[in-house]
Amino acid sequence: MHYVKVKGILSAKNGMNLYRGCSHGCIYCDSRSTCYGMDHAFEDIEVKENALELLEVALRRKRKKCMIGTGAMSDPYLPLEKELCYTRRSLELIRQYGFGASVLTKSNLILRDLDILQDIHERTRCVVQMTLTTWEDALCKKIEPGVCTTRERVHVLKAMKDAGIPTIVWLSPILPFINDTKENIRNIIHQCADAGVYGILCFGMGLTLREGNREYFYQQLDRHFPGMKEQYIRRYGNLYQIPSPRQKELMRIFYSECKSYGIETRTDHLWEELSRFEDKQQGHQMSLFE
Ligand code: SF4
Repeated sequence: MHYVKVKGILSAKNGMNLYRGCSHGCIYCDSRSTCYGMDHAFEDIEVKENALELLEVALRRKRKKCMIGTGAMSDPYLPLEKELCYTRRSLELIRQYGFGASVLTKSNLILRDLDILQDIHERTRCVVQMTLTTWEDALCKKIEPGVCTTRERVHVLKAMKDAGIPTIVWLSPILPFINDTKENIRNIIHQCADAGVYGILCFGMGLTLREGNREYFYQQLDRHFPGMKEQYIRRYGNLYQIPSPRQKELMRIFYSECKSYGIETRTDHLWEELSRFEDKQQGHQMSLFE
């Protein structure tokens, strides 16, 4: 882990990454790709030392309240967050300045901050997003070795639902010949239904590979799935998009299962839900004067 000072913290779309790099070790991770120009080892987490000061200034200056997102390029609940509490403190600022939050993670460490997330959702809006890729915990430990299992993530989704916080699941990526089975898709959706998930984002059954993440992915295939790398190379060569051969059938199952459970799948609608801000306090204050 190392510290750096940065110039800005919020992106044009109000997203933030307090950390750079990630130690969860997902074998398919796109954030490893060389196009992102990281000048340090991916597991040597860069901590943006002045992130909280910058965030406070940015929130204070904003004319219009909005949702602040985190979790796009690095998980906000890395093991070092236990001690550093940057994510927790950023949520405190979001609450203090009356903004909303949308958080994407694979870690059950988010349960530590349930109190703040709930507070934010009572005042404005909070949406918690979790990525699920496989319902089998043993497979999960191979493809996402550094973070909690799907079972524990489903527990988080249930806890959020019980706290009144809406949840959205990212069903991605689906790795050809590894987790691209009908049973896997059905079981994940079943668990989402059980956990009261509002919607599932799915952009197709496959993954993307490019320079940087491809090399790491292949190393891990050699380690955990001998012979699989050769199968990928034969079938996909150097393609960026790696669709499952079962893509059509799995997408059919995805839509029909989600429909039967009343789970939202329209991506445009789900994007809107992630960015829709609501000021519940304002409505409350207005009603006092009506
Ligand atoms: S949690 Fe996300 S950023 Fe971290 S290794 Fe996994 S895919 Fe990459």
